[in-house]
Amino acid sequence: CGIVGYVGPNRAADYLLEGLRRLEYRGYDSSGVVTAEEGGALAITKTTGRIERLAAALAATPHEGEIGLGHTRWATHGPATDANAHPHIGGDRVLALVHNGVIENYAALRDRLKAKGYRFDSDTDSEVVAHLIADELKKARGKGPVADELDPHALIVEAVRLATSKLRGTYGLGVIFREWPGVLIAARLGSPLVIGVGDGEHFLASDGSPLVGHTDRIVYLADHELAVVTAGSIRIMGRDSATVAHSVEQLDIDSSQVE
Ligand code: GLU
Repeated sequence: CGIVGYVGPNRAADYLLEGLRRLEYRGYDSSGVVTAEEGGALAITKTTGRIERLAAALAATPHEGEIGLGHTRWATHGPATDANAHPHIGGDRVLALVHNGVIENYAALRDRLKAKGYRFDSDTDSEVVAHLIADELKKARGKGPVADELDPHALIVEAVRLATSKLRGTYGLGVIFREWPGVLIAARLGSPLVIGVGDGEHFLASDGSPLVGHTDRIVYLADHELAVVTAGSIRIMGRDSATVAHSVEQLDIDSSQVE
């Protein structure tokens, strides 16, 4: 029921954990984080129950990495178990994804992906999106030299865009990729997402509360928009993949309103 993300020069796990605590009020049954560690390897920790359990697991096994995503889950598809908690892996540890919302056509998509050999570790509708993006990426790369000549970001953006165009339902998504550990992709339809603009760093969140104390500059993502976020840049694209101008607004929550 909540999403956070970070890309910048600092330890991502610190902001992610603090941000998830600020989103606790939205309700949840499990939580998790992923960071891209040395060489892009995706490190995932997820637990059922209170954020404090996640905090304890992260204290026992600290996550390195300056990019990552966090999630609080309110289960809609599959019980509250560690396996069903987010983040979910797509493909052969190609990417990690967090999702809020409900994918209505997940069963048909899952059958198709299973037939192609994708292995599912959870009962969630969300894991389908993770494998679907991995599959679109694989198809794009299969086109050979043409794909390789593309700006690598264009390749992953196109994979996310094609995958989301096949979804029916609602989503707020955050995605990071093993091979591109400096870029975070966010997309939304129906579930809110905002981007906090810092100094050489960016934050992702379901609402402004995790941003307080980090930045008061905020970009609201609209339905059908996709954001390509690095430490130093934000590019927002519409449904037709054309870049759309975005405005940075003033966040008006102050620290007395968050715990
Ligand atoms: N439908 C997804 C699930 O059951 C996401 C739920 C949420 O928004 O937290 O895992």
